[in-house]
Amino acid sequence: MKKTAKRLAVISVAVFVIDWGVMGLKLLDNDYLITAEVIIGLISLAVFWVCIMYIKLTDRCPNCGKTKLSFGKYCPYCGKEIN
Ligand SMILES: [Zn+2]
Repeated sequence: MKKTAKRLAVISVAVFVIDWGVMGLKLLDNDYLITAEVIIGLISLAVFWVCIMYIKLTDRCPNCGKTKLSFGKYCPYCGKEIN
């Protein structure tokens, strides 16, 4: 499940980047009908944040079971090394 969330986060970033590329090309082409691109961009951004929040909230220390609040190498609660 966590792997799926990570994969979805990567996909949403890719969609976001491609979407902005398309939007940029359209604007350079003096085409201002970018409503669809804006919506896709916002959706991909929302999906990305949901995935990041999910990964953060489910990322627990294997030693004490507390939610990891940092991406550090050691648990801030028990000081044990976490992968
Ligand atoms: Zn811990």
